[in-house]
Amino acid sequence: MSSFEAPKGTYDLIPPDSDTFNAVREALSAPLRRAGYGYIETPAFEHTGLFSRGVGESTDIVTKEMYAFTTKGGTDLALRPEGTASVLRAALQANLHRLGNLPVKLWYSGSYYRYERPQAGRYRQFSQVGAEAIGAEDPVLDAELIILAVDAYRSLGLRNFRLLLNSLGDQECRPAYRAALQDFLRGLDLDEDTRRRVDINPLRVLDDKREAVQKQLVGAPMMRDHLCEACKSYHEQVRELLTAAGADFEDDPKLVRGLDYYTRTTFEFVHDGLGSQSAVGGGGRYDGLSEMIGGPSLPSVGWALGVDRTVLALKAEGVELTPPARPDVFAVPLGDEARRVLFGAVTELRRAGVRADFAFGGKGLKNAMKSANRSGARFALVAGERDLAEGAVQLKDLGSGDQGPVALDALTTTIKEKLQ
Ligand code: AMP
Repeated sequence: MSSFEAPKGTYDLIPPDSDTFNAVREALSAPLRRAGYGYIETPAFEHTGLFSRGVGESTDIVTKEMYAFTTKGGTDLALRPEGTASVLRAALQANLHRLGNLPVKLWYSGSYYRYERPQAGRYRQFSQVGAEAIGAEDPVLDAELIILAVDAYRSLGLRNFRLLLNSLGDQECRPAYRAALQDFLRGLDLDEDTRRRVDINPLRVLDDKREAVQKQLVGAPMMRDHLCEACKSYHEQVRELLTAAGADFEDDPKLVRGLDYYTRTTFEFVHDGLGSQSAVGGGGRYDGLSEMIGGPSLPSVGWALGVDRTVLALKAEGVELTPPARPDVFAVPLGDEARRVLFGAVTELRRAGVRADFAFGGKGLKNAMKSANRSGARFALVAGERDLAEGAVQLKDLGSGDQGPVALDALTTTIKEKLQ
């Protein structure tokens, strides 16, 4: 071990787990790519103000969890705690909303940073695959995104996840609801921190996990009973579209999520095998975010799915993803001349699309054959001086043990035939 370890709350992705991560990223994004979402990549850090204005000054993410710093040049920057604000910023900066059709549909995959208390399923650097559909207000679009997430989880073989659904209303109906909720909450026995939250962001109190708080919330006014006609009808259409597509959901009137920018449709995917960190993904509509960061009105909807927790959920369900392919051929050279010739053969095989590896480090026959077997290759390619003098190499089937000479100049064709 070196004298350094990965910082608290982070971990290294090493084989074979790293292969699982890549397979999960691939599976989570495949439905998006089929549905016309284009790939976007933004910097790992942004101006701090983007997140404090976008994600919200009253959220834990901004007040407690952001890796914010001032550069030597005096610029306030922060590692991105989530993807939506950055993607919208980038889309506005590139004028994507003016150049093509609306909605602008984008997907991303990357690492996000939150200074949280680390525990199983909660890290300070974590991985998300996300999608944003910018510039359209249409219940079909909300349904599309939710269905794409459901299909992504299903394609991985995940079964025990649930979709929780709610509507948070809009600027028409939420202010009156917010006031009614504040009235109710001010009559409760709450600690100072929570009372402050009642003033700044009362909806977040509904999400408080503590039993002492939850007990008092019985009878609290719920957004769903205060939705205006437009929000009610919008939400009903989303629900119908999901039902028609076989995307089962549970209405969760207390679902508010930890970011300030959500309006109307909000949803979360939870997995029952993960303990307290059960959210594997979530998202919603954010019709006001563009204006909050200085852009035009662009009603939008998006989600982010947690890659780390999806991997944990797969483990909890005992789902094994297909392991990465093993080499077809493993070359075992005996002596310097054979090293040169077999390395040339391996290069040619690889260029012809064959998976090939090599016994590096000048190992003797016994150790090199051990490496060949450990690699899981189908064939070993063995050559010493005598074989080379005859213009041949020995091809050994590592499954059956059969072995025979193959002419060097016909090696690639012979191996390709055998592999078919
Ligand atoms: P959020 O932006 O908080 O809605 O997060 C979206 C998803 O990212 C969550 O459902 C989790 O799966 C994942 N996620 C959020 N925070 C963390 C974290 N600290 N560690 C691991 N995964 C996380």
